Amino acid sequence: MTTAKPQISLYNTLTRSKAPFVPMDATNVRLYACGPTVYDFAHIGNGRAAIVFDLLFRVLRHVYGPEHVTYVRNITDVDDKINARALRDHPDLPLNEAIRKVTETTAAQYQKDVAALGCLEPSVQPRATENIDEMQAMIGTLIQRSHAYAAGGEVLFRTRSMPDYGQLSGRNLEDNLAGARIAVDAHKEDPADFVLWKLSSPEEPGWDSPWGRGRPGWHIECSAMSERYLGKTFDIHGGGLDLIFPHHENEIAQSRCAHGSHAMANVWMHNGFLMVEGQKMSKSLGNFFTIHQLLETEDFGGRKWPGEVLRLAMLMTSYREPIDFTVRRLEEALTLLERWERAAGDAEPAAQLSSDLVERLVDDLDTPAVINRIHTLILEEGRAADGLALAALMGITVKRDVAVDDTVATQIAARLAALNAKDFAEADRIRNDLAEQGIALMDYKDEAGQRQTKWEVKR
Ligand code: AMP
Ligand code: ZN
Repeated sequence: MTTAKPQISLYNTLTRSKAPFVPMDATNVRLYACGPTVYDFAHIGNGRAAIVFDLLFRVLRHVYGPEHVTYVRNITDVDDKINARALRDHPDLPLNEAIRKVTETTAAQYQKDVAALGCLEPSVQPRATENIDEMQAMIGTLIQRSHAYAAGGEVLFRTRSMPDYGQLSGRNLEDNLAGARIAVDAHKEDPADFVLWKLSSPEEPGWDSPWGRGRPGWHIECSAMSERYLGKTFDIHGGGLDLIFPHHENEIAQSRCAHGSHAMANVWMHNGFLMVEGQKMSKSLGNFFTIHQLLETEDFGGRKWPGEVLRLAMLMTSYREPIDFTVRRLEEALTLLERWERAAGDAEPAAQLSSDLVERLVDDLDTPAVINRIHTLILEEGRAADGLALAALMGITVKRDVAVDDTVATQIAARLAALNAKDFAEADRIRNDLAEQGIALMDYKDEAGQRQTKWEVKR
């Protein structure tokens, strides 16, 4: 029996290369992923990010043991979009109550949606509103160390105070300058400086602080919450590609300058975009489908899509590549899952997975290769138990679908009736129909000389 842990390799955006993953402490492997801003339903692009980091969480748990991994995914419940939504949806309520209503309903919906996509609950899901003291403390430290200053009703990060600002995104300050809008806020020392704290008007939500009643900027939330739950430096920080700049770049600047450290996280991982006709799926473009909509309505492709199908459709592409979101992709995932379900029959997932079976998965989450492997195990090698266990490790439950057996049996009976009535066209139609679903029919005569049909799942 070999007990060697599989070696995980991960692509690191910071070094632009793939390397073996070595945790700082194998008894507490620490992962942070930026979570949702809770003002509206999450779309399936947000779902992709949740699935990718859930998959990583599962792989880390598999390798290091479930009790040795801490996964933090925050809930951003302070944001101007939330205020706007609260005013629009609950004009009759006091703003604080209206905001709480919006954030609580949206956060609960998010939990439900991503659970349906097969995502485990993270170890901690901190809310920004419950970590305001931590943010203020960090801002205080940054001011004290001359990395931040108060001006024009804001506290700003002094970007020039960090000589190696821009390493993650590969942007330097001059690029930022060139890209900055002409009308630079006059109170900024440098156009690249960003907000840590901003004053609130009496109608806006706010907290008392040494710099006046106000609210935190977005970036400081993640720096403060990751420190609280994972420490000053931790193993892996993740999010979608769109977060590299400015969000993650600025998180790094705040955390490293506040702690005087060389790294905020050792590995930075970013998932690719979910695209619709060549454009990133996003709220602002209006080209989105919510997870809820896909699960519960027939708006996309004329049917409801089970959570496992959506998850498999995401994992059919490597997490770093873009995905074109189409009905065809979901249909492919559905067909694949149905074929596994039929071919696996009564098999139960194996209790153990040998390390050669997880080789591709630990290689920077090569899920397309893993899906091929599952397919071969179940359909060609008669190793359904191993295939199911590997699928389960990716968060995909392959259920035995009794309804499918019933449909096939009904169609076979209809075809036999057609053959007996010499309606060969109808018999062929049924055979072709089933063939398209990956089911092959074989006719034979039983002992009494009666025509019978067997079926099997083809590759
Ligand atoms: P947001 O609520 O917009 O801050 O996004 C939450 C998470 O979803 C972040 O990690 C984003 O990078 C990610 N995300 C947003 N849109 C997409 C998309 N179209 N494809 C993949 N990930 C996305
Ligand atoms: Zn963040």
